[in-house]
Amino acid sequence: MFKLSVKYIIEHEQELWQKIRWNSVPTCQCGSTHLYVLKDGRFKCKHCKKIFSDVSNTIAQNSNLKKWQWLYAIFVMSTLKSISVGELAKHISVSITTAHRMLRKIRYYMSKDNFNRTDFAIIDEAHIGAWANMKFSKKFEYMKEHGFMDPVSHTYTKSQILAASSHKKEHILSIINADNQCVLQHIRGQINHDVIKSIIKRFGIKHIISDESTLYRNIPGTIVEQCNHSKRKWLTDSGLSTNPCENRFAWTKRIYNYMTHTTANDLQLYLNQIAFKINNNRKSLTDVFDTLGRLCCTEYISHNGITNWLRQNEIVNEPVEIEKQILEMLDYGFVDKIEHKHKIYRKKR
Ligand SMILES: [Zn+2]
Repeated sequence: MFKLSVKYIIEHEQELWQKIRWNSVPTCQCGSTHLYVLKDGRFKCKHCKKIFSDVSNTIAQNSNLKKWQWLYAIFVMSTLKSISVGELAKHISVSITTAHRMLRKIRYYMSKDNFNRTDFAIIDEAHIGAWANMKFSKKFEYMKEHGFMDPVSHTYTKSQILAASSHKKEHILSIINADNQCVLQHIRGQINHDVIKSIIKRFGIKHIISDESTLYRNIPGTIVEQCNHSKRKWLTDSGLSTNPCENRFAWTKRIYNYMTHTTANDLQLYLNQIAFKINNNRKSLTDVFDTLGRLCCTEYISHNGITNWLRQNEIVNEPVEIEKQILEMLDYGFVDKIEHKHKIYRKKR
């Protein structure tokens, strides 16, 4: 039975935190459990003489928030589908900016659950974004701007509409390993052979199952098995298919529609959350809470560190101007100012 409640979290924050972090036995980084307890509640190791507290080197380091506020955010993120920034801010009485930072941090820690390397992988790509909900005039303008119609007569074909819709959308890649765990990867700009090559090199993949797309062919050092969907063949010669990927995309689109105000800048963080939900679907709620709590109690990373991680992890095809990105983030409304290389950008009021 799931015994956690808000009242329980507030009353037993100290016990719960230590239970998640150390299994109720405070331990030093060197592995020793022989500790002095200081007056202010911190610990001193008898072996290496290091002084530390129960929040040092975790998600709650350098934070003025109380432990129950962090525990509540972790509890909500591990049990609900998702929560909006405004709602979380009301529940734990913090500002919207603080709630935004908290959720951003937790979504980063969810990526630690992913695998980094795999020999065998099922790969497929998909496109998500708002083309169906756009007005006709906006679609017409977009197609005119990006050359998807005749420049003089302004006529277009059905295939040109399809090409424009996939050009406007964001591209994501689903990679599933032999243990049925998945990673969702956001690709900025257009998808092509070089991008796929770099991803396969990063994960060290040697055996690929894919559909008939030419993106996955001719990659040195890999065996590629393909099934031909256009000829209505859903299985490869060895009897495997790409349907697990389609399943993950169905999940992704359902949860993604539930999230409001996602941006392309932070899309990788939202995908982390969705992949975490899918991979831990079969576990009980208590186990999911424990898993996420343990991930959040690992190494400390600052808010700026997450932005840097996104830049390193993103796979960019077209060069994106960083200043343009920053101004977009300010328009988004959750951030008032951003410091970038000694320049301070402020939101216009
Ligand atoms: Zn020690």
